[in-house]
Amino acid sequence: MSSIAELGEFGLIKRFSNDIKIINSSTVKGIGDDAAVLDYKDKQIIVTTDILAEGIHFDLAYTPLKHLGYKAVVVNLSDVYAMNAIPKQITVTIAISNRFTLEAVDELYKGIKLACETYEVDIVGGDTSSSYTGLIISITAIGEAEKNKIVYRNGAKPNDLICVSGDLGGAYAGLKILQREQEVFKANPDVQPELKGYDYILERQLKPEARADVIRMFDEMNILPTSMIDISDGLSSEILHISEESKCGSRLYDEKIPLADETKKFAEETLIVPTTFAMNGGEDYELLFTVSQDDFDKVKNNPLISIIGHITEQSKGNFLIMSDGSEVELKAQGWSHNK
Ligand code: ADP
Ligand code: MG
Repeated sequence: MSSIAELGEFGLIKRFSNDIKIINSSTVKGIGDDAAVLDYKDKQIIVTTDILAEGIHFDLAYTPLKHLGYKAVVVNLSDVYAMNAIPKQITVTIAISNRFTLEAVDELYKGIKLACETYEVDIVGGDTSSSYTGLIISITAIGEAEKNKIVYRNGAKPNDLICVSGDLGGAYAGLKILQREQEVFKANPDVQPELKGYDYILERQLKPEARADVIRMFDEMNILPTSMIDISDGLSSEILHISEESKCGSRLYDEKIPLADETKKFAEETLIVPTTFAMNGGEDYELLFTVSQDDFDKVKNNPLISIIGHITEQSKGNFLIMSDGSEVELKAQGWSHNK
């Protein structure tokens, strides 16, 4: 058996599912029946799905399949964490064409399984189909939370502090580097790619992590954000979602937006204002959230968090305040995967 066509759908399912072990007690039945069975007792259940299509969301010219599998899982887990919930199961649906080798499918699943091990999530099912053209992966993540701990986008109140985990803009800067080197390679295949010195932001693009640690810290420090969203598009578009859903306004301070040194270095090199990557980039998978002023002591000097602004009345609008005091109105300018 050396090709997808020879192995067939069932053979393929067996190949990637035979070493899957269940670790969560909420998983009653995983792969192998008509449906999975989960038991969440008195918890509330969080469900979210994302699809990744070749040519739209990823380019296999510079995306290793193992990283793609890992990222496909992580982006879904990030959505569960953004509800202040803990992911426990995923289902994996793939459509794959015969142009892929079995080894390529193995690589994809290695990444999927590594993410599941890392985040302690069970693969409990999915679907497998052939495809005439590109590769499509759709993952559904299922998680749990206590009812009164779930955090929505709509709970922010005027004077709440706006906070963000980690640093922003790195994933977009990483993508720009990969695209640049791809162009150079097309023009002259003998030129070696210039990726040195940018390991961190390349990893931000190719192998992002979801902020399970931040959600754990909230629990340990007894922090319950008033609103939360994960940053899959740019900061600008995400804060506008919180403002719109919470019926309020916002003020963000340019100099407070956390940027990694490599992001700044790449911005300098390409003559782009560094916060542009944070505001209009995407795929950082950090958490953007608001907390009440009462929690100031818990979030100030917290190594996982930066305070970047505050919530205002809706009539005040949404603004980015620059270090010279000028104010830039925020507009929905999310991240289009086609650009
Ligand atoms: P059905 O005929 O009920 O759709 P399938 O033959 O498609 O069942 O799948 C058999 C089992 O394998 C089911 O438990 C299904 O959830 C699981 N499965 C199918 N494809 C995948 C996949 N890509 N990843 C994980 N599990 C899968
Ligand atoms: Mg099926």
